Amino acid sequence: MVLVVHVPHASTHIPEDVIAQFQLSGRALEDEARTSADLHTDLLAQVIWPTATIVAAPVSRIVVDVERYADDEHEVMAQRGRGMVYSHSHDGTRMRCGLSDDERHRLKDTWYNPHWDRLRRAAAGAMLIDLHSYPVDPWSVELNQDGERPEIDLGTDPALTPASWIMALQDHIQAHGYTVGLNTPYAGVIDAGAAAAIMIEIRRDIVGDPSGCEKWLRLGACLSSMPFPAEQIIP
Ligand SMILES: [Zn+2]
Repeated sequence: MVLVVHVPHASTHIPEDVIAQFQLSGRALEDEARTSADLHTDLLAQVIWPTATIVAAPVSRIVVDVERYADDEHEVMAQRGRGMVYSHSHDGTRMRCGLSDDERHRLKDTWYNPHWDRLRRAAAGAMLIDLHSYPVDPWSVELNQDGERPEIDLGTDPALTPASWIMALQDHIQAHGYTVGLNTPYAGVIDAGAAAAIMIEIRRDIVGDPSGCEKWLRLGACLSSMPFPAEQIIP
């Protein structure tokens, strides 16, 4: 079975033609894109699963967040200004002018829809890992302020994540010395048409730096040997 790794939040790229939408200056805008990004998760996916199909969002989540529902009515983070199109920064300050419907549609047509087309094509019938990192302390815009923040959080869905896989993964991660939680502080996994799926959220203090430091290698050793459901063989 094909393995697909979805990497929605690694990019810090802000296309020139959307910069004018923001109320932050150059350096502050770059800082917000970097703070919001799940830095290095793209490289992590490449080195850990070299044969996988990696579907990474091409722009920063502060331009368009492909992990959100496009319809604000269905997206709980929209009430914090962090729906598909962000109006607020990670600390809840206003950072973007109110966009017209046309501008919003253009963003969706340019970045959101093509990404989901690619993801659905790749994920159909495959095994999906939705790969993220997350901050040690909750941002003020986060809805779950009090949930446990383990070193690795597994986001699951009863229809997409076999229970035996969850148990095997928890045992595996613990055996590598990490704390592991289930659906805390973030819950669930996206449904892109995969046969099986799980979200892996790694706390940022254990991601480390890809320049070959101890943290990076330790994390790589844990994830590259992670178990998959017995009935679904990954090449
Ligand atoms: Zn993320």
